[in-house]
Amino acid sequence: MMYRSTRRKDDRKSGPQAIVIGLAAGGGLYVPEAVPTLAPGFLAELTALPYAQRAARILSLWLPELAEQLPPMCEAAYARFDHPAVAPVVPLSGNLHMLELWHGPTLAFKDMALQLLPRLMGASLRLIGERQTILILVATSGDTGKAALEGFADVEGIRICVFYPHNGVSEVQRLQMATQTGANTRVVAVRGNFDDTQTGIKRIFSDPQCIHQLEQKGIRLSAANSINLGRLVPQIAYYISAYVDMAAAGALQMGEPMDICVPTGNFGNILAAHYARLMGLPVGKLLCASNKNNVLTDFIRTGVYDRNRPFHLTSSPSMDILISSNLERLLYELCDRSEEQVSALMEQLKTNGHYTLSPRALSALQAGFYGGWADEDEVAGEIRQAFEEDRYLCDPHTAVALKVARDYQRETGSTLPMLVTSTASPYKFGRFVLTALAGSCDADDFVCCERLAELSGQELPFAIATLRNKPVLHKTVCDVDEMWEAVGPMKS
Ligand SMILES: *Cc1c(COP(=O)(O)O)cnc(C)c1O
Repeated sequence: MMYRSTRRKDDRKSGPQAIVIGLAAGGGLYVPEAVPTLAPGFLAELTALPYAQRAARILSLWLPELAEQLPPMCEAAYARFDHPAVAPVVPLSGNLHMLELWHGPTLAFKDMALQLLPRLMGASLRLIGERQTILILVATSGDTGKAALEGFADVEGIRICVFYPHNGVSEVQRLQMATQTGANTRVVAVRGNFDDTQTGIKRIFSDPQCIHQLEQKGIRLSAANSINLGRLVPQIAYYISAYVDMAAAGALQMGEPMDICVPTGNFGNILAAHYARLMGLPVGKLLCASNKNNVLTDFIRTGVYDRNRPFHLTSSPSMDILISSNLERLLYELCDRSEEQVSALMEQLKTNGHYTLSPRALSALQAGFYGGWADEDEVAGEIRQAFEEDRYLCDPHTAVALKVARDYQRETGSTLPMLVTSTASPYKFGRFVLTALAGSCDADDFVCCERLAELSGQELPFAIATLRNKPVLHKTVCDVDEMWEAVGPMKS
C-alpha cells in the first residue's frame, strides 16, 4: 500500500517509510493513495476480539508490510492500560456515548497512538534497513509531549526532544514532562504559544543546514506529532472498535450510522474518524468541537480559514491551536486530491494567515462535518451537568465536545446515537474540574485532585498520585528562535 505527499505527486512512500520520515519534504503530509475498505463481515468478526487484536486487524489494512508484527506490538502497547477494554464506551443519558481514550499511562488519548508508535517506528526501521539514529522532535500543547516521552524513553536508536509552550500547559502536564527519566530524553519550555512552538519545529525540519549538520553525525530527524502517519493509523482503530461495542451493547444495529463528536485541536483525532468513515464505517456527521480558539468552527461554517485572530489560553490547552496541521489531509480530499491546490492554500496560510475554500470544496466539507464551540463558562457548566445528571466526571476537553454534541442534537433534532470522544482523564485538569463542581479550589493541583477523587468516590489515578514526589529533571527554557540550539546534546 502506498502513500503520497499532499504537496508533491512524485513523493510516494510505503507506510513504513512514511512513518520513519514523519513530515514529507516541502512540508507535505503523507496520505493514502487509496483508503482501504472494510470487507463485508469484518465488523462482526471483531466483536469477539479484545481491543489489541481488533487494532492489529485494522492496522494491518493500512500497514500490510507490518501485518505479522502487528498483533504482538498491539498486545504490548495496550498492556499498560488500566481498563480491560482499553478504550471503553460508557453510555450517558441523552443518547450520548463516551469513548474513553485516557486509560493509558499518561491519562490522555495520545497514549492510544504513542504507546504504539515507537514499536511501529522500530519495525519500520528494521524493514527498510535504516541504520541511522533517529531524533524525534515534538511540539506539544500539553499531552503529546508526555505520551511521546513515555513511549520513546530508553528506546534504542531513538532520541526525543520535546518542546512545550512555557506557561501554556497545566501544572500536572508540566510536571509529567519535567520529571521524565530516560537518557535519550530532553524537555524544553519555549517562550511562546503552541503555534510558535510547532512553527519552530517545522522550520528546523525544513532547514537544510540543520539536516546536514545532523546527517554528518548519522542522525535523521523524525516527528512524533500527529502529522506522523504512525500516529494517525492507531487512532482509526478505536472508532471502529467503539462502533462494534455499541452494536454489541444494542445502542445501534450493525449497519446503522452513529454521529461522532471530537474535541479538536490539531485535527488528528477527528481525521482518524473521517478515515474510518471512508473505510466504510457507518458514520453520519463528524462534529468538530473547539474551545474559544474556534478557527475550525468558522472554517466549517464559512469556508474561510483565518488564523489572524486573538489566541486564547483556555482550560482545554491541548486545543489551544490556531493552525491545525492535519487539516491539510482533509483539504487534499476536498480539493479533489490536487497537490497544486493544497500547496497554493498552504502558501496563502503561511504568507497571509488565511485562505478560502472553493464553493464546491465547502459543500463537500459541510456534507460531512459540523462545527461548534464552547466558551469557558459553558465548559464548566457542562462538567457540572454531566456530573449532576449522570455522575460522570469529565475533563474540560471532553466537556467542550459534550456541549457541542448537545447543541447539535438540539439544532438538528438528530436521534442517531452520538459517540463523544473523551480525550483526557479529569484528574489531568483537577483544579478546573473541581472548581466547576465545588465553586472554588484554594489548594494546589494535587490537593484538588485528591478532593475530586473524594467527591466522586473514585480512586486517584496512580500516575497522579506518584507525580508529586518525582524530582524535576528538565529545567531549560528558550526563545522560539533558540529551539535548534536547545536541542543540545541530542544532536551530537
Ligand atoms: C491532543 C488533544 C486533543 C486534540 O486532538 P487533535 O488530534 O490534536 O485534534 C483534545 N483533547 C486532548 C485531551 C488532547 O490531548
